[in-house]
Order: sequence, then structure tokens, then C-alpha cells
Amino acid sequence: TALLQGKFAVVTGAASKRGLGKATAKLFAEHGATVAILDLDEGAAKEAAADLGPQHIGMACDVTDLEGVKKVFDALAAKWGQIDILVNNAGITQPLKIMEIAPKNYDAVLDVNLRGTLYCSQAVIPHMRSRKEGKIVNLSSVSAQRGGGIFGGPHYSAAKAGVLGLTKAMARELAPDNVRVNAICPGFIATDITGGMLTPEKLEEIKLGIPMGRAGTADDVAGCALFLASDLSAYVTGSEVDVNGGSLIH
Ligand code: NAD
Repeated sequence: TALLQGKFAVVTGAASKRGLGKATAKLFAEHGATVAILDLDEGAAKEAAADLGPQHIGMACDVTDLEGVKKVFDALAAKWGQIDILVNNAGITQPLKIMEIAPKNYDAVLDVNLRGTLYCSQAVIPHMRSRKEGKIVNLSSVSAQRGGGIFGGPHYSAAKAGVLGLTKAMARELAPDNVRVNAICPGFIATDITGGMLTPEKLEEIKLGIPMGRAGTADDVAGCALFLASDLSAYVTGSEVDVNGGSLIH
């Protein structure tokens, strides 16, 4: 069952120990891929990569810095000779109400979630186009679809809705080059993104709104990412895949 044998994958924001990116990187590695984990902190990225095995790479990369992003992707392309898969997973959220969003909040949330997705895609697209093969998986959110998540403010919803639009437009433009682009919309997944604000009471309240009656796990999202990054989804592009336990059925 090595769905990604011989493939080379980049996952952004994948150093977070309990995060969606790390779980995705791990599952990709288990399916034969060589993986690069990019994150803000170089030590954490290297440590996460080492967890997956010696052939995997951890590098510092701030997805909002275009020049830095280009350098990292060009270095990986030079080392590997190809980049088959990009997972735009780096993201941040802030639990603000509409009138609380200051310019710096807008910039931070839009920059990491949306600008970062654009920049990393721009950095990888030439490498994918030249080989007429590639898969890009973007992390959106249920909060883009239903207007507000559980922890994210309106600026987060807007950024993740922007990711959906970007996903679909890139899918259309890149389809002739055999580069597929899809988005995942996770519902509530227990990771560190909530920054310790999740109380047991809040968790019970959230579960009441989930038909499957449980929070999602990072592995639930990783499985979907594997599907979208592999040939199992060969004819799927421009789609948004819900991973939300039925919390939004539309
Ligand atoms: P997380 O906080 O565990 O991990 C996010 C990672 O992104 C961290 O390692 C962080 O260092 C990194 N990061 C932040 N800014 C960065 C930057 N400028 N450049 C590079 N890396 C940066 O979060 P998570 O829950 O694993 O979320 C992963 C993705 O899934 C995010 O895009 C998030 O918005 C999305 N998402 C999460 C949930 C959820 O319930 N956890 C739901 C919907 C969508």
C-alpha cells in the first residue's frame, strides 16, 4: 500500500507535534514519500523530520516571505530533482469578534493562511509544470464555508474562504499541465492551534454540534490529504473535501 513510492512532498507548518501537517507528513512517509517539513523554527522542523526517518528534511521557512520561500523550494528541487506534492498547511487563527480585528490581526491571519498559500504554490508550480505532474493540497476550514468556526474570527473565515477561491482558480489554470489542486475543509480537530483555550466544557459543547459525536483527529485529515496527493484522486481537481464528522452537511 505504498501510494507515494518515489514521490517527493513538501508540507508547510508541519513541525507542530500534534498538528495536521505532522500527521500528514508521517502518513506520506509511511506511503513511501520523501518529505520536507517546513516551519518557522529550524530546530523544530529538523526534529519533526528526523521522527519520520533519516531521508526526510526539516527546514526553516516563513511562508509569508516570498524570497525565503523561493530559496527553500529551489534548494529542495535541486536536491531531489523533482517536487511532486505540496501541502499548504501552515496556518494561524485568532478568536476575535469583528470589531476587535485590528490591522495587525488582519495582516497576520491573512498573510500566513492566504499569502503563504499563494507564495508556496508560486514557488513550486514551475517545478511541477516542467514535469507535467503535481498535486497541491490546501488547508481551508469549515469556518470558510459556514461563516465562523469555533476558534477563528471573521478574518480567519475570510482568509480560509480566500484559500478556497485560490484553490479553484489554480486548479482551473494548472489542469492543462496535469497539476491538480484541491482543498481540505477540516471541522473541529483537536490540535495545538487553539492555544490552550479548549476547556473540557467547551469540548462537550462543540461535540453536541457534530453528528459523529467526536472531535476529528489529525489522522482523519492526513488520510484525506493522502487521497488528494495520490493517484487515487487522479480525476479530482478544484474540489473542497469536508473532513468534519458531519458538522456541516451541504
Ligand atoms: P498547529 O498550530 O498545530 O500548526 C500550525 C503550524 O504552522 C505550526 O507549526 C506553526 O509554527 C506553523 N506556522 C505558523 N506561521 C507560519 C509561517 N509564517 N510560516 C511557516 N509556518 C508557520 O495547527 P493545526 O491545527 O495543525 O492546523 C494546520 C492547518 O489546518 C492550518 O492551516 C489550520 O488553519 C487548518 N485547520 C485546522 C483546524 C483544526 O481544528 N485544528 C480546522 C480547520 C483548519
